[in-house]
Amino acid sequence: MSRTDDDPKSILDEKHKKLLLRFSFALRWLSSKAIFHSFCFLKAMMSLTMLKHGARLLSGLQQAQKQSVCWASTLIVADPGPSAPACAAVTAAKQLNADDTIDLVFVGTQAPQEVPSGVNSVFFYKSAETPTAETVAACVADAASGYDRIIGTSTKFGATVLPRLAALVNASPVTDITSVIDSSTVMRPLYAGNALAKIQIGSELPQVLSFRPTSFDKVPTEAVKNMTEKPAIVFEGSKWEGENVSKSERPDLQSAAVVVSGGRGMGSGENFSLLEELADALGGGAVGASRAAVDAGMVPNDMQVGQTGKVVAPKLYVAVGISGAIQHLSGMKDSKTIVAINKDPEAPIFQVADYGLVGDLFTIVPEMTQKVKS
Ligand SMILES: Cc1cc2nc3c(=O)[nH]c(=O)nc-3n(C[C@H](O)[C@H](O)[C@H](O)COP(=O)(O)OP(=O)(O)OC[C@H]3O[C@@H](n4cnc5c(N)ncnc54)[C@H](O)[C@@H]3O)c2cc1C
Repeated sequence: MSRTDDDPKSILDEKHKKLLLRFSFALRWLSSKAIFHSFCFLKAMMSLTMLKHGARLLSGLQQAQKQSVCWASTLIVADPGPSAPACAAVTAAKQLNADDTIDLVFVGTQAPQEVPSGVNSVFFYKSAETPTAETVAACVADAASGYDRIIGTSTKFGATVLPRLAALVNASPVTDITSVIDSSTVMRPLYAGNALAKIQIGSELPQVLSFRPTSFDKVPTEAVKNMTEKPAIVFEGSKWEGENVSKSERPDLQSAAVVVSGGRGMGSGENFSLLEELADALGGGAVGASRAAVDAGMVPNDMQVGQTGKVVAPKLYVAVGISGAIQHLSGMKDSKTIVAINKDPEAPIFQVADYGLVGDLFTIVPEMTQKVKS
């Protein structure tokens, strides 16, 4: 028996066929979409992977480029004036990494004639007038590109320039280093020298470090070999107006082999002539002072030795009428031999002194001068 079009069964079959056809179209459409989306997903993943590898490749290339410019390199920021601090900085840099290439940057009105021996190249930023700390920091930041370490000294100059520089090169500085343990571990004093901290230097480059010049031997100087001169990058926000430098015939406090310092016990500025006579008898030493003597107006503040004054480490330091407060000791206790003259046998200065004389300074000092002279 055959089925006709009117046969309800065949009408149902026809409907089924149409439904099946639509369903298969829908399936095909869906699968094509799925393939498309999977393709897009795959493409996105591949792009991401390529981006990731690309970035790695780029940073590798940059690193390689950096290393090809300066292989394990150190840039020393030279103080103005005598090159002694930079000579100590070279020793410190070598202790940190003996294989470092050492270059030096100097910002000033006159090109340096001599540099510490061991310096490879010099970058001189010529300034029409005495550069401000901001100008020096901007020039050093310009020269510092590609260097692993930027090293300064913990002199007044370094203490003014290095924080500004560290901000410009986005580094966290480690300052006033007094000794090097290994290439990433150093010691620095805390609490005016009452404690010593062992510091691990971070691996992020560049490192910005400052060293205490009196704690490191000084390399000799030699004539400049390679020098690149550039105009200074002048910071317009501040201007150098002038300076009022007190002139002294006496040797510089920080480089003298003998320092005779007076404290409040001296009583007056005129009495410091007693110390000058003793310093002369000892071969032309420098004369320093405690902060109490400076604050009392006995002597100018560039003679102050201590935490907020100058840090000295001569072969012989004679402390006269100075009690030995921790802030004073932090500026002189690295001296090779310390002699203290004080009428108070309990004065703390005697705890760091190699030789102590208890008595009136106005009797002891002239007597001592006479004995040294004869
Ligand atoms: C933040 C800060 C930073 C500081 N920075 C420094 C610094 O850089 N340098 C510094 O020196 N101080 C500094 N000080 C000050 C320090 O704390 C002391 O006040 C200062 O060192 C005391 O100076 P002095 O020993 O001359 O005076 P004093 O402490 O008054 O001692 C005078 C001494 O002279 C002796 N004397 C008096 N007459 C005679 C005599 N006829 N013969 C023999 N001996 C006599 C006395 O016995 C006494 O020991 C700082 C303080 C602070 C808070």
